[in-house]
Amino acid sequence: MIFDPLYLLLTLPALAFSIWAQVRVKGAFSRFSRVGLRSGMSGAEAARSIVRASGLDGVSVERHGGFLSDHYDPRTKTLRLSPDVYDGRSVSAVAVAAHEAGHSLQDATDYGPLTLRSQLVPLTQIGARFWILPFILGYALHMASLLWVGVILFAAVVVFQLVTLPTEYDASNRAKAVLASTGIVTTSEEAQGVEKVLSAAALTYVAALVTALMQLLYMVMRASSRD
Ligand SMILES: [Zn+2]
Repeated sequence: MIFDPLYLLLTLPALAFSIWAQVRVKGAFSRFSRVGLRSGMSGAEAARSIVRASGLDGVSVERHGGFLSDHYDPRTKTLRLSPDVYDGRSVSAVAVAAHEAGHSLQDATDYGPLTLRSQLVPLTQIGARFWILPFILGYALHMASLLWVGVILFAAVVVFQLVTLPTEYDASNRAKAVLASTGIVTTSEEAQGVEKVLSAAALTYVAALVTALMQLLYMVMRASSRD
């Protein structure tokens, strides 16, 4: 498959876009890691302050290993922040912490796409793990039905990423609003920095979706030509 010119034609531009988005988010994060806030807050302090101000009962904030491994776990209602974000006293740290707090706000208000996203996790894990076997077998054995099984399994991954997109944009919008209303971010320079960090991060989700869509398109084209 990876030697198929059609596959390369469809997926290489998406791969280049993904790499560019990754480089851009790392660049924006490190650039605004050197810019402190007038409120002097760290990511952990900002997250706790948002949790308190929004009356999110039972949401805890924890330090979590890894670079940009920040996430919100709806099952345990925990905001897990990477060391750079947890301890960082910068525009970047506060932007990412507030974004994760945005997910906990979504959870508290039963925001539809977040709920759907959580429900799709088991299906997505099955799809991500098992699409390749039927697809490769179908390809080798010239069996269209097996190719279509692979397509359907991989489609689960694409649907998950499709639902992820509004969830991520909404979390960032909530973050920007709550950072302003709680007085964590006070100047327009700080707000612009937050905007740059969060929009660079959002682009990586767009890139992941485009990459998955291109792969799905390839799979559909190959399965159709076997029919
Ligand atoms: Zn997020």
